[in-house]
Amino acid sequence: MVEIREILPCIADPKKLRVIGRIDVKEDFKEMMPYVAWLIPNSAYNKKMGWISFKKGARIITIHSDGFVTMTQIKDEREAMQILEEIEQLVNKAYEKKDEIDLSKPKEKINVTVMDVYNYLPKTNCKECGEQTCMAFAVKLLNGERDVKDCKPLFREKKYTGIREALISLLSAAGFEVEI
Ligand code: SF4
Repeated sequence: MVEIREILPCIADPKKLRVIGRIDVKEDFKEMMPYVAWLIPNSAYNKKMGWISFKKGARIITIHSDGFVTMTQIKDEREAMQILEEIEQLVNKAYEKKDEIDLSKPKEKINVTVMDVYNYLPKTNCKECGEQTCMAFAVKLLNGERDVKDCKPLFREKKYTGIREALISLLSAAGFEVEI
């Protein structure tokens, strides 16, 4: 069973929604997560954080080990339900195909662009990070010259919780070491 728990405005795109949903998971789901991630192209499993992140178009989807799923840039409730159902099917498939999945095979990393990063920054150009603009910060972040935590408002202000989580998911899925 899948369900929608919360629908919020998406700061990354005010015309879209940020949706928190849930899929039913079994007790051993945490052990299954690498297998689920293996079945999702361009996804990454972060063992330490206990989540799988992937990009679906402009959307960032994060599956948590407790079954919660956060989705950014969602058009409507129907689209969110469709994504949750797809994830549920993938989880079932992972259980079925577990023995055939070779986790040692390297997976492609998510390709993250400067615009992807910029979309999940506050976009206020406040300069607190020492850069003139959020765009300049996004470029340096992707070049490895800045740390995501240098954007203080992103970690300080409650209203940025959603974009912060999405950005961290995105960066870790792209292979960046993100210590939070
Ligand atoms: S601190 Fe964050 S919000 Fe402010 S300019 Fe830098 S990246 Fe943008």
